[in-house]
Amino acid sequence: MNTAVREWIRTSDSITVLTGAGISTDSGIPDYRGPQGVWTKDPDAEKLVRYDTYMADPEIRRRSWLARRDNPALLARPNAGHRALVDLERSGRLLGVITQNVDGLHVRAGNSPDKVMELHGTMFEVLCTDCDARTTLDETLARIAVGEDDPRCVACGGIQKTATVMFGQALDRRVLERAAIAAQVCDVFLAVGTSLQVEPAASLCGVALEAGAKLVVVNAGETPYDGAAHAVVREPIGEVLPALVDGLTPTG
Ligand code: ZN
Repeated sequence: MNTAVREWIRTSDSITVLTGAGISTDSGIPDYRGPQGVWTKDPDAEKLVRYDTYMADPEIRRRSWLARRDNPALLARPNAGHRALVDLERSGRLLGVITQNVDGLHVRAGNSPDKVMELHGTMFEVLCTDCDARTTLDETLARIAVGEDDPRCVACGGIQKTATVMFGQALDRRVLERAAIAAQVCDVFLAVGTSLQVEPAASLCGVALEAGAKLVVVNAGETPYDGAAHAVVREPIGEVLPALVDGLTPTG
């Protein structure tokens, strides 16, 4: 393990972590664009998460709900990488976890909900695209189980979707602002399991660098920020993160 990175973490009390699909693959959730990625194997599946096609085509919505029903994230459990970030929080060093994942595993692992910023929303809530009424994925899947294929809002009849950010949709501004602040005021910024190719998540690395933070990239593949990073770690996330937090004593 990179001893310099361990030392930066040990001596910091404000670490921000950005996570992508790579932290959840050990939980059995495939990533999107990797060799076994969902969209690599079935390029057509990307249509299910494009806002315009989803809103226009009831058949896409039907397939999208079935994909949610069969999504491995429903049964997934947090892994050693998620648990290491809980240990990081308990040690008093964690400013926040900014995640591109919609699988809810950081909170299920035990990170405080107020430390977790879900840039791309969550798949466990469902909202109405007309009146913004919220319900749960469980309730919606229960309606699908009894034969509805495109369950509409019970309040207004509007089209419903999971509370995730689809292609063609803007990110939640409040979440994005919190994430930018967390990048700006941290002294170590860890980018974990993300290829740093999707904006604006990737540019948070630039925000952190500009503000003087140490940037550490932990990812199996290359990223556009490898050259600018203070350290790049290629080893498996499920080994790297536990090793980084091992033996941390609480900060004073
Ligand atoms: Zn509604």
